[in-house]
Amino acid sequence: MSTRRALAALAIAATVVACSSTTGNESAAGDNTAVAATSAPSSSSSTTSSTTTSSTSTTTTIPPTTTTTIPGFLGEEVIGTSVEGRPIVAYHRGTAGGIPIVVVGVIHGNEDDGLAVIDLLRTMDLPAGYDLWLLPMLNPDGQAAQKRTNANGVDLNRNFPYGWGPIGQPGDSQYSGSGPASEPETQAFIAFAQRITPRLTLWYHQNAFLVLPSQRSDGPLRKKYAELTGLPYKALTGTGSTFSGIAATWVRVEVPEAMSFIIELGDDLPPDQAQIHADAVITIIQMVN
Ligand SMILES: [Zn+2]
Repeated sequence: MSTRRALAALAIAATVVACSSTTGNESAAGDNTAVAATSAPSSSSSTTSSTTTSSTSTTTTIPPTTTTTIPGFLGEEVIGTSVEGRPIVAYHRGTAGGIPIVVVGVIHGNEDDGLAVIDLLRTMDLPAGYDLWLLPMLNPDGQAAQKRTNANGVDLNRNFPYGWGPIGQPGDSQYSGSGPASEPETQAFIAFAQRITPRLTLWYHQNAFLVLPSQRSDGPLRKKYAELTGLPYKALTGTGSTFSGIAATWVRVEVPEAMSFIIELGDDLPPDQAQIHADAVITIIQMVN
């Protein structure tokens, strides 16, 4: 993991801890406040995510978050906890009650360059009318360990209940879990999505370097995103993967009127490219109405 991403992960962890003291400012976020503080203690373990060992966790005094000075800040909350107790954080920005949009930075823990895009989206100017939810890490344990699966060895992107099927066994990279939505991270996202009912959900992955074409309503958004970022807009071939229990598909099928697609980054994402991707997100969300 790059230093930049390590810093992004630290910033995320720091903000989570700090949010427990700023919840009084979140009245615009409605029901966020009660949830936000509950899992903060375990977030200290996230500060070890830039190393390969997680056995030590230094508790430090973290300065107050500056998040509340960000334009359009609506709050932040912990939507659930991972197998190892790390918080799954959602940042909320934009126009409360606007068109809900969700962006997920990391579901495969070792494909975490999307964090840089999320980090930019946390402070960029937003167009009016969009209710933006940023989830840096749906798989914080995998990200901390720099492995694809969660701490139970489950590929979360094979664990969603739509079209779920048994794949592999613990230890296999695409192990789909003991059953549909068996994992706490999957359950947390499902409850969140059912509450937020996003019109568009974006999922960052690596390293296929493409956006898959679609004939559905999200086709033009995918194509535009690919054009803006230079990602090829083409089908994925020859992976040997089994595509069941996919998070993006679950959203598209189970959340009414939801569009949802995967952005496959390349092997890395330099800062200038991260900005291009963040700009592309801002552009395509304005295609949602
Ligand atoms: Zn992936």
